[in-house]
Amino acid sequence: MRPTNSPTRIFNFSSGPAVLPLSVLEEAQRDLLALPGVGMSVVEISHRSPTFVDILEEAAAGVRELMDIGPGYAVLFLQGGASLQFSMVPMNLLTAGRTADYVDTGTWARRGIEEARRVGAVHVAASTADDGYARVPSQAELRLTAGSAYTHITSNNTIEGTQWSGIPEVGDSPLVVDASSDILSRPLDFTRFGLIYAGAQKNLGPAGVTLVIVREDLLERAPDNLPRMLDYRTHTRANSLYNTPNTFGIYVLGLTVKWLRGLGGLDAVAEANRRKAGMLYAEIDRTGFYRGTAETGSRSLMNVTFRAGGRGDAALEKAFVSEAAAAGLSGLEGHRSVGGLRAGLYNAFPEAGVDALIDFMREFERRRG
Ligand SMILES: *Cc1c(COP(=O)(O)O)cnc(C)c1O
Repeated sequence: MRPTNSPTRIFNFSSGPAVLPLSVLEEAQRDLLALPGVGMSVVEISHRSPTFVDILEEAAAGVRELMDIGPGYAVLFLQGGASLQFSMVPMNLLTAGRTADYVDTGTWARRGIEEARRVGAVHVAASTADDGYARVPSQAELRLTAGSAYTHITSNNTIEGTQWSGIPEVGDSPLVVDASSDILSRPLDFTRFGLIYAGAQKNLGPAGVTLVIVREDLLERAPDNLPRMLDYRTHTRANSLYNTPNTFGIYVLGLTVKWLRGLGGLDAVAEANRRKAGMLYAEIDRTGFYRGTAETGSRSLMNVTFRAGGRGDAALEKAFVSEAAAAGLSGLEGHRSVGGLRAGLYNAFPEAGVDALIDFMREFERRRG
């Protein structure tokens, strides 16, 4: 069984770095030796050249349009991944004497908490650790601190396969969101966020560029002795060109954003994502041979986590992963920390790949069930 999306490309279910739109890769490949009208590669030109500044500004404008965010927000392209944001967020926003609220919904959320604790006072407003992170908390479970510096959530828990279906209510506290694995996958009221960050390598482009969107009035909190590279103000003032940014990453991210706009924006993207994930969850629920690991109301549309052999049979799952790979379905193993199976269904993942996985699952169940 060979996937039909291209003669040589297989279906890539990796949860990160992850699949990119074929048309984006084709455009990047076509123009790699010489950008049209420039005669040089995007990886050879100055980051301060008008050509590159246009590429960067167009990428930022595309993000603004997709998210419908106004001039009070800065759109930044930084480095260091989401992991550096675990530190930069508290270093800039967690002022002395205040407390930041964090919601603990999994491995990445915990990493954020650990880094914030190195900077200042952290209160865990809710945790689903006792439920094995199989769900995100309800609004009623949040124990928010009055006057907190900000409230941090992880909108999609990449490893555990859970996702907030809506934005929690946090009062006047600025909401800070690690959206690394569901950025630009659905429309939300982005005016309710204080800061959103995402490593690009799941839904936006190659590894090495981090998208940060921040409400500018929050930036004045940063202490004056903050190292310049770690101060958001350095990057807002310099339009993400304080030092040499990841030029190629920003270029590909810009192409991806253009592709998303061409699909019809985030409503259309969300519709496709709901359909893809819905098909796969329906198959998981069909007979009991497979079992979803996330509670139904918290299921992620981006990372579908499941077990095979009822409650999970590691040897059977190992066979599933290798036989699927042989059939052109790559990257279906769960994160090494939790095991099981996981299908990354990011924006660029084609629906034909979900069809192919479902066919494979049925065939595997017939043989091994
Ligand atoms: C992948 C991921 C991270 C880590 O991202 P890096 O860019 O590797 O630092 C953080 N948070 C979430 C939700 C992720 O999915």
